[in-house]
Amino acid sequence: MDVLERLRENIRRVEARIADACARSGRRRDEIQVIAVTKYVSLPTTRLALEAGLKHIGENRWQEAREKWEALGNQGTWHFIGTLQTNKVKDVVGRFDYIHSLDRLSLAREIDKKAAALGIRANCLIQVNVSGEESKHGLPPDELFSFAEELRAFAHIHVSGLMTMAPLEAEPEAIRSSFRGLRTLRDRLNERGTFDYEVRELSMGMSNDFEIAIEEGATWLRLGSVLVGRELEHS
Ligand SMILES: *Cc1c(COP(=O)(O)O)cnc(C)c1O
Repeated sequence: MDVLERLRENIRRVEARIADACARSGRRRDEIQVIAVTKYVSLPTTRLALEAGLKHIGENRWQEAREKWEALGNQGTWHFIGTLQTNKVKDVVGRFDYIHSLDRLSLAREIDKKAAALGIRANCLIQVNVSGEESKHGLPPDELFSFAEELRAFAHIHVSGLMTMAPLEAEPEAIRSSFRGLRTLRDRLNERGTFDYEVRELSMGMSNDFEIAIEEGATWLRLGSVLVGRELEHS
């Protein structure tokens, strides 16, 4: 099977699983977007992923994303999903449509500055460490509301949603509880009316746990291995 065929087959399988999870949880397919995480695959495979109909591309490091973005950045919607170092902000803002890893004020300050210089509003998701795992980046849940208050000062940042990563190798119930926790935080943030717009997106769910994420309200799934594979072209 060639790479394009295999991508199409992966998409069919993932779509069937998404449809089942939507049916189980009474959700509509069009409430959910799939981000194809291409960090494990080459530029040619990323190009084929777009050709196969995937519209959202996720990358986690600028150094590795650069070649792909320079070739394909005008196609699809680009999501920066990895930890963002302050000195990389100048590369990412203005190129990526969404940044999923806003988790500290120093980073907000840099993003706001760069977005202001470009005359744009940067779409950001606040990354929250719901599970409390030490290895994970993201804001502790009990700091979210005060952090959000401080973000109001940044006119060039738009808070599109919240992002989390489930605990690694955890029981399904622990995974579910971290996703549910993120949804609760988003709902409470909206109830508080911190922003004069709705914070909508929940970026949660990866290859191993996306069905649970759908059941718990995910609007953006970040799918790498299950969707675009890991170096498909060598297999
Ligand atoms: C790599 C990565 C993903 C995708 O991982 P898979 O398990 O291969 O689906 C999702 N989110 C983030 C932040 C990642 O770094």
